[in-house]
Amino acid sequence: MRSRLLLFFALLTAGTSFGQDSLMFRKISDEIMLHSNCYNNLRVLCKRVGHRISGSPEAAKAVLWGEDAMKEAGADKVWLQAADVPYFYRGKESLELNIGGKYEYVQALSLGNSQGTGGKPLKAEIILVHNFDELKALPDEQVKGKIVFFDYRFRQDFIFTFQGYGDAVRYRGGGPSAAARKGAVGIIIRSMSTGEDDFPHTGGTHYNDSFAKVPAMALGNKTSDRLEKALAKEPVSAIMTSECHMMPKMVRSYNVIGEIKGTETPEQIITVGGHLDSWDVGEGATDDGAGCVQAIEIIRAMKALGMKPKCTIRAVLFMNEENGQKGGQAYADSAIAKNEQHVIAIESDAGGFSPRGIGLVMSDQQKNKIKSYKDLFLPYGVYDFSREEGGSDIEPIHDKKKVPLAGLIPDSQRYFDLHHTNNDTFEQVNHRELSLGAVVMAQLIYLVSEHGLN
Ligand SMILES: [Zn+2]
Repeated sequence: MRSRLLLFFALLTAGTSFGQDSLMFRKISDEIMLHSNCYNNLRVLCKRVGHRISGSPEAAKAVLWGEDAMKEAGADKVWLQAADVPYFYRGKESLELNIGGKYEYVQALSLGNSQGTGGKPLKAEIILVHNFDELKALPDEQVKGKIVFFDYRFRQDFIFTFQGYGDAVRYRGGGPSAAARKGAVGIIIRSMSTGEDDFPHTGGTHYNDSFAKVPAMALGNKTSDRLEKALAKEPVSAIMTSECHMMPKMVRSYNVIGEIKGTETPEQIITVGGHLDSWDVGEGATDDGAGCVQAIEIIRAMKALGMKPKCTIRAVLFMNEENGQKGGQAYADSAIAKNEQHVIAIESDAGGFSPRGIGLVMSDQQKNKIKSYKDLFLPYGVYDFSREEGGSDIEPIHDKKKVPLAGLIPDSQRYFDLHHTNNDTFEQVNHRELSLGAVVMAQLIYLVSEHGLN
């Protein structure tokens, strides 16, 4: 009986301390789930602008779209923040494999930032390795003049798929130079993909300047499987043809920023954002149109609810996350130059799927403060506060100014089916799941603005 009484009082106190916050959580959720404009915004971004790699005319169009969307959402102030960005140009590309004695075209994408074949066909025999160790063990003569096929599979045994990505992405980043070091003339990789399909995934690669900049392409899982089987039986040659290259000059571009001025401590800033640029395939819906429209939605919902946040709330559409992080750096540099006070920076760049958690990159004390609210988040499906995940665009402000970070963690199971592919389109995003991500971030912002982080 006594223990029941204690439980009753415990619930009662929990009720009073969380009561106001719980009510506000519900209001935020109702506003966004019933009146959200984020799905519509995503449709416009995907269908009218489409993919938008940094430096491209499409990226410039996306900046104008972002500025308009931010104004329409009702931000007190909207502005553009300059950032000079690299521009990767893809052009025409093709890959032919002579499986079974005759050449056929297969689905392939050049890796981002890679140097193509100058538009001329590059014909060479393929040599398969499963990993870097196998490549290292081969005598240079066996690799010289060949195209190395890195047949490393995305590990499906990791439940949180970002772990599998982190494991496999080494081959995309470091594959070209590791192969060139041994005299290879090009590389092909099995995509960093969980998908049982034939969509190749592009994404950034990096050359080591000490070695030749060899062309690099990615295959979907199905073609990779076929190539693997064919190579087990007989030699296979490939003809790579690609025009891709980095443009010689940097291009002036912008972060798009919309702000709601704080009422009590306006000098204290809470940032929430995603990245506006995408790779130059698909529509950049999941990566990261979703994060952009969620940030804009938070501004819209706070205004619609008549919320008067104590801190200033800033929604930022960062430019150039994919191949340079120049937008994130410009944001951090400006914060330093203006001696701004940043309470927390939050990013959504893991897809518009159902939120499951919030990653925390901050002191243990600050983590514990956010974790003390975990029961408030539970009705919204959010339970995982264990991961140290922020976001690439907000990393610079953490590194340079020690600003605490939070990253939205949605269900990760389908993200790497779509990531950096032609299949990353508006149709892959679910309205409710996308809105719920905005709900959770708005709730977190409300808590931090109201109660602080320390
Ligand atoms: Zn992204």
